[in-house]
Amino acid sequence: MKQFVFLILILFSAQSIAQKITFDIGTLVSQDSSIIAIRELWKSYVLNYKKENDSIVFKYWNKAETNRGLTDIIISTTPIKSYLNADLLTFEIKKIDTQFYIIRNILTLGGKFGETSYNEFTIIYNIYAKKDSLGFKLYNGLYQYEPKLLHFETKYVDFYYPVGYKFNNQKASELCTVYSDLINKFGNPNKHKVIYLIGNNLDEAYHYIGVEYTPFSSSNLAAGYHIESQNIILTCRENHLHELIHTIFKQYGGSTMFQEGIATYYGGMGGSSYSVLIHQLKKAIASKPKIDLSKFDDLDNSIGNGDFNNYYIIGAIFIDYAFKIGGSEKVMALFRYKDVDTFKFDGAVTAVCKEFGIQKDQINSFLKNYINTHKDS
Ligand SMILES: [Zn+2]
Repeated sequence: MKQFVFLILILFSAQSIAQKITFDIGTLVSQDSSIIAIRELWKSYVLNYKKENDSIVFKYWNKAETNRGLTDIIISTTPIKSYLNADLLTFEIKKIDTQFYIIRNILTLGGKFGETSYNEFTIIYNIYAKKDSLGFKLYNGLYQYEPKLLHFETKYVDFYYPVGYKFNNQKASELCTVYSDLINKFGNPNKHKVIYLIGNNLDEAYHYIGVEYTPFSSSNLAAGYHIESQNIILTCRENHLHELIHTIFKQYGGSTMFQEGIATYYGGMGGSSYSVLIHQLKKAIASKPKIDLSKFDDLDNSIGNGDFNNYYIIGAIFIDYAFKIGGSEKVMALFRYKDVDTFKFDGAVTAVCKEFGIQKDQINSFLKNYINTHKDS
């Protein structure tokens, strides 16, 4: 009974109001000094984690990764990007070779965070730990997998892909040429090269950063994901321009509408080019003369084409128009306006009114006219 009370106390002592970590019994009662040290390091890390890029985050991670700008890749893949509100179950810590220990976790996140609320979701993933002269440090799954992957290096992008994947050097090189041109036009806000991880499917790409299960998986081979703060792209192809564009513009901030807009303008969406998307949109709205395209937070519902990211195309239209009236300078001006509520796109509305000189009540007719008169250039 005494031992039972003791365990309960440990479980509760690992809780804080906002974030919670629990361990399996084996880890809790382990007498192994390395397991104890890793457990305490991991617990302290999770409970002290507030947001990405806090200086406190860096001290837990190894130099080899922090020198490349990497810290906790997995938490940066979540919409919340923090262990705040997290319920983390670490169900195993064990030695896997002469140097490394594995920390296996089930992470449940969700609820309201800032202005936006998220459904609860679960991720199963592994973190690693190794001792250096200052004690144990944390490592990402990527550190374990990278030596097993094949590598294609360019000036701004490091491509990694698995043995057996038919990597197309030419496609990758062409992508990097477009990327270099964009950097010449818009600057390069990144201190480190882009880590471009290719899997035979998106789950495989997630696997290379240490993920065993994620709800953000997709069976669509056109799917990809940009992990903003870590400058990593997860994808299934060599020419994923859409995600690569994000590595530049996400650093400039501004409304999600223009972030997705510029990525869609250059790199399309879900495998369809901007011009194909405009033609599809034209068809979809032809039978709906009363539709109001200026209600940006209701587009998927009002257009009713079965797509769930119609604001990407509307964003791309604004980018196209900015190019036409004021070149790349006008495009950059749009990124100065932040949304207060991400999916209400209030910053985008202000940007359109101020930068294009369009009244709020004219946005709908502007968009309809643009779509109906659009010609591929
Ligand atoms: Zn995107």
